[in-house]
Amino acid sequence: MDKFKGKNILDFMKVFPDDGSCREYLANLKWHDGFTCPKCGHTKGCLKKDHKYHCYGCGKVESSTAGTLFHKVKFGLRKAFCIVFEMSTTSKSLSSIQMGERYGIRQGTAWYFMHKVRSAMESSKKHPLKGLVHVDEFIIGGQEENAPGRSYNTRKTKVIIAVELNEERKVKRAYAKVIDDYSAKSFTPLFEQHISEEAKVVTDKWRGYSPLKKKYNIEQVPSNKGKNFKELHIIIHKIKSWLRTVHAPISKQHVRRYLDEYSYRLNRSQSKQTIFHNNIKRMIQGKPRLHSQIINGS
Ligand SMILES: [Zn+2]
Repeated sequence: MDKFKGKNILDFMKVFPDDGSCREYLANLKWHDGFTCPKCGHTKGCLKKDHKYHCYGCGKVESSTAGTLFHKVKFGLRKAFCIVFEMSTTSKSLSSIQMGERYGIRQGTAWYFMHKVRSAMESSKKHPLKGLVHVDEFIIGGQEENAPGRSYNTRKTKVIIAVELNEERKVKRAYAKVIDDYSAKSFTPLFEQHISEEAKVVTDKWRGYSPLKKKYNIEQVPSNKGKNFKELHIIIHKIKSWLRTVHAPISKQHVRRYLDEYSYRLNRSQSKQTIFHNNIKRMIQGKPRLHSQIINGS
């Protein structure tokens, strides 16, 4: 089978009935363009029935999970595939508690693995937002929505978000980033990594955006209590309510990964058919991550 398509869980179960079928899927993806031995650099070898590549140069036997984000998954590849399927095809992924219960694995184990999946969901930064882009900031972990001005509570995580609107003013794509404060310096990475210089950017009257006008086409309009940024605030609301169900409280260094996950799904709402396959491919290309890296959010 070359590419799993769709969101149907029964189809999914049929295609991936056991760990072996998942290993085969990974092997086909990993060595699609040929084999290079990680040990001796030899390019000749053979893919055996166990879905491992046997190098003719040095005799090394390489598994399809080695050197990928599936490295050392201890609870079985099929369960890992199921978690990736849930996280990429549902509009709201489950909490690690629910995921653990569903697949009979410890909550902590589910949490680690889900963060590995999230790290594969990180943006390539190759497709900056274009056209009409609305930008604003929000905070996670507080009930200060009604308080005027910017929140300076240091325990709360500050986030800047940009959404691209289509001609009918519907949200097409979005990117969000954790920021230290509301200065132009903190806003800059989101602009540089995710907004095209040709885009028409609209923000509220906050002075932090002014220095960015040198490089970007920014129009500042009054927020009018959010009325001028309705679509943007719906997305913010969705992110916040999703995060409330996922894991509470989320430490600051992990918020980034949840934002990546949210954007990954939202930005692919037009390509849901191949989202699972795409996610698996990213997991194959992603380097293995240590538990300590997951913990410190790097
Ligand atoms: Zn070799």
